[in-house]
Amino acid sequence: MDLTSYAELAVLLVNGELPDEGDLRAELTTVFAHAAAGREREAVELLNDLLTRHPVSPQISGHDGQRWHLHLSEGGVVMGLAAVVTELGVDRLGLCQAARCSRVFVDTSSNRSRRYCSERCASRANVAAYRARRRSGQ
Ligand SMILES: [Zn+2]
Ligand SMILES: [Zn+2]
Repeated sequence: MDLTSYAELAVLLVNGELPDEGDLRAELTTVFAHAAAGREREAVELLNDLLTRHPVSPQISGHDGQRWHLHLSEGGVVMGLAAVVTELGVDRLGLCQAARCSRVFVDTSSNRSRRYCSERCASRANVAAYRARRRSGQ
């Protein structure tokens, strides 16, 4: 099964695009904040704590004409982030660097170059940088 897709669900949860069924959103937000600030140990300790409190309970599911496949419980999003951290690195969890945006992302790019949550934020930031350069006459 693809745990990265569960990491993407964690991103949607933190960004408010999925309903929060407990207190998971606040704690996952803290994981991303620690990771983005380079506090690797704190991020890992909180993830370990969350893994204990939100166990993964796999269930075999079949729907929409798909083959039997595994669904993970709510703990799957924590497991997904743990997989990203252990397979790719803590620095893959990021906070959008665009002004007035506090959304998070998982950087799965090959050169670890991602800085924004979306194309929209990336182009907004590029336009702002261009205007700033023009104002300063460069
Ligand atoms: Zn399914
Ligand atoms: Zn953004």
